[in-house]
Amino acid sequence: MFSKLLIANRGEIAVRVMRTAKGLGISTVAVYSDADANALHVAMADEAVRIGPPSARESYLKGDVILAAARQTGAEAIHPGYGFLSENAEFAEACAAAGIVFVGPPPSAIRAMGLKDQAKALMAKAGVPVVPGYLGEEQSPKRLAEEAERTGYPVLIKAVAGGGGKGMRRVDSKSGFAAALEGAKREAASAFGDDRVLIEKYVARPRHIEMQVFADNHGNAVHLFERDCSLQRRHQKVIEEAPAPGMPPAMRAAMGEAAVKAALAVGYSGAGTVEFIADASEGLKADRFWFMEMNTRLQVEHPVTEAITGLDLVELQLRVASGEKLPLAQDQIRLQGHAVEARLYAEDPQHDFLPSTGTLERLHLPENLVRVDSGVREGDAVTPFYDPMIAKVIAHADTREAAAAKLAHALEATQIAGLRSNNAFLIRALKQPEFVAGDIDTGFIPRHQAELIPPKAEPPLQLLGQAAMFLVRECERAHRSNDPWDRADGFRLVGDARQTVDFVIGGKRRSVQLMHRHDGSLEMMDAKAAVSPHGNAVRMKSGDIAVFERGETWVLSLYDPFAAADEQGSSADRVTAPMPGKVIQVLVRPGETVKRGAPLAVLEAMKMEHTLAASADALIATVDVSPGDQVNEGAVIVGFAKENSEAA
Ligand code: ADP
Ligand code: ADP
Ligand code: MG
Repeated sequence: MFSKLLIANRGEIAVRVMRTAKGLGISTVAVYSDADANALHVAMADEAVRIGPPSARESYLKGDVILAAARQTGAEAIHPGYGFLSENAEFAEACAAAGIVFVGPPPSAIRAMGLKDQAKALMAKAGVPVVPGYLGEEQSPKRLAEEAERTGYPVLIKAVAGGGGKGMRRVDSKSGFAAALEGAKREAASAFGDDRVLIEKYVARPRHIEMQVFADNHGNAVHLFERDCSLQRRHQKVIEEAPAPGMPPAMRAAMGEAAVKAALAVGYSGAGTVEFIADASEGLKADRFWFMEMNTRLQVEHPVTEAITGLDLVELQLRVASGEKLPLAQDQIRLQGHAVEARLYAEDPQHDFLPSTGTLERLHLPENLVRVDSGVREGDAVTPFYDPMIAKVIAHADTREAAAAKLAHALEATQIAGLRSNNAFLIRALKQPEFVAGDIDTGFIPRHQAELIPPKAEPPLQLLGQAAMFLVRECERAHRSNDPWDRADGFRLVGDARQTVDFVIGGKRRSVQLMHRHDGSLEMMDAKAAVSPHGNAVRMKSGDIAVFERGETWVLSLYDPFAAADEQGSSADRVTAPMPGKVIQVLVRPGETVKRGAPLAVLEAMKMEHTLAASADALIATVDVSPGDQVNEGAVIVGFAKENSEAA
């Protein structure tokens, strides 16, 4: 076994690989870009080498710089993780030339599987079923359209160099073909520098089922059962599981055999995944699945396979790469229970899953309940430079139903603030009745879009109570007294033991009444039910309060009476008292002109003095109060002359 390993990756997969390396007594070298200088994978490694500026092109994709780091630190092997250089045959070759072991298959196998058309042709020759379609050299739009017709609509246009669902278009009829082809070619050219495409029959009721394979350098190859990755959005995996629901044993055997055949056909070594598409329109059938592509690396969703087999795939990779034989024969590999993984992303489902960057002001992942693979900690930033994954959360149980429920429960205990996440979306998907019944295909998410992404509701009253109590307690901690009045905005004194906390929700004020009991406890006055003890809150850098409830995050703003007065002032011809109080000073006289921002009067409220200012240049028409006056909320303090307020 190696004594030192460099991990040419970042985030959760770098951390994941290091965990196993450490367990095997291998010392670890991290590489990092400037954006990751303080990242978890750097903190966890025994040594770390800076490789460049944030952009992946100038750092994690720089094979020569990474090789230099390996030489400089004396690493004997490089684990590429997934993405970045993991399927780069030139990099694997450069490693070999430098006398450093690339933890992955030989460059020839990476190449053989690198282009979808060549891989399919090779598989067809090896007797593996492939999706019918056109793989030809000729790329004229006319020929491609003819081939689509011959294949039979619906068809899928795919970039031969494709990956990550890019350069792919489904076409349902002849009339849409030309435009779709143009779009696929454009996308492929910009993503892969290669605009060649192939045509495939679009499989009905498609299920994505893939086989994990493993081969060593001694001619042995096995499979570790299948994973179902049918829950996809834009051809990208969202929720994965193992085994595939409803998989007939005969189909598993046939698919396993096909996958092993595929690996042997390209002289494979190490971990690989053979992806198939299955037609589930009449249930899964042993003769209704076809090869799509092979990914020649460790896959994102490998933890579900680890859960059901009890094997550590990274350990197997390292053993095979160091020359050991596979420790298990096919009949020694057991499938136990069911595992489901969800990809937790910093993205906003309400805005078409736009990546959401920022600081994780709160990050709580229930590691006591489930397996969590994450590359970030609370306080870390999700930057725009890389994949915005926060974590993979994996649950394992005896049955599929139990595993899905466990995962949903774990996500409900997850707390994220500082950026948007898909957490609530994942929970809804896991609880959706068709999903629970195992009735899935790649159209599941688009079909249930409306249910899975409902419009954001107003925060329930209980949650406001939670936030209000959090504020009062925060105030008590800060002042070590029971008297929050002297500081916090948004508090209003009503009675001796009663307290009102005001929030603004959707531009409107919403108040929560709290009652302080003699025993020091705090209660919500208008709640029909007790405030949930599961909820929790944090104060954000912005001053807002984030409250968590069953995996949802609500961000509440405190009502700021003076901001409200400002807004009111700018649209009206007067300044009013934002809350009940006492006029302490009047600073202007009728007939006087004032500049925007000039102080007009001072009001004392909530034991604090507040200056009311002009929101625009104005001519004072009336002064409606005198020092010492008690005023109610909304009372006019100063009126402006008409012309001036309009001019302003
Ligand atoms: P990528 O390299 O982008 O992963 P794949 O060939 O693996 O490309 O396809 C990505 C996804 O597109 C699959 O997981 C599946 O959901 C869908 N897909 C691919 N080929 C077909 C097909 N022939 N019929 C239906 N769906 C398909
Ligand atoms: P919009 O920008 O769409 O008007 P908001 O900013 O009010 O909406 O946020 C809507 C929801 O988005 C919040 O209730 C919360 O669920 C989520 N959200 C907003 N900001 C954050 C944040 N900083 N951290 C976590 N979630 C947030
Ligand atoms: Mg794929």
